Amino acid sequence: MRIAVLSDIHGNLPALEAVLDALKPYDALWQLGDVVGYGPQPNEVVARLAQENATGVRGNHDAAAVGDLDTDSFNDDARSAVEWTASHISRATRDWLAALPQRSIHLPFTLVHGSPRDPTWEYIFTSSIARANLSSFETTHCLVGHTHIPIAYRERDGRMEGLQPDDGAQLELGEERVIANPGSVGQPRDGDPRASAMLFDSEAGTLEWHRVEYPIGRVQKLMTERKLPVRLVTRLAYGL
Ligand code: ZN
Repeated sequence: MRIAVLSDIHGNLPALEAVLDALKPYDALWQLGDVVGYGPQPNEVVARLAQENATGVRGNHDAAAVGDLDTDSFNDDARSAVEWTASHISRATRDWLAALPQRSIHLPFTLVHGSPRDPTWEYIFTSSIARANLSSFETTHCLVGHTHIPIAYRERDGRMEGLQPDDGAQLELGEERVIANPGSVGQPRDGDPRASAMLFDSEAGTLEWHRVEYPIGRVQKLMTERKLPVRLVTRLAYGL
């Protein structure tokens, strides 16, 4: 099976469409949370994922948008985007988001948004944080999002090495435990504005990272029309 692994789509429909097109053909779709928040098309993104029979987990923005998480620790722009999202999602979108679990097992992976020990808030952005999380999941490998940075941490001789995948990079999964992040579809933050996603080939046992161009200007125009924060509009062009 070829499985598309997406995270942090953040209501960005053009980026989602471009990624799905680029990863074709795939047999299943897993998503790692933050389906909504920041972007202008939360309902359209959820409808598209539902149509794809996507399975996955909820992120902090998803929980906040349905009122299950208070936004005290969000920065001003994130909070106003969450409030905008909460007041613009349909009943169907709300129900779909509210039904997402915090953690989901798809062997050989555990799927979470932030980290296995704190799925809602923790960012795995160093090898030591990755290592500290190894005891918090029982499957061999783990898939995370939340940082918006494509990366893999692989256990080697008792430590975790960080691998930064370029477009097309492949990682062969073996006995060594891996925590992998596909990067963000809808708001990349590693200085490359292209959407980021991953493909898991279960027969080959490989993870493969992809970067995909999408019409950024189209999303920015919608965000401006919908009065989302200006800084969120501009950052898409820089991937930061
Ligand atoms: Zn996010």
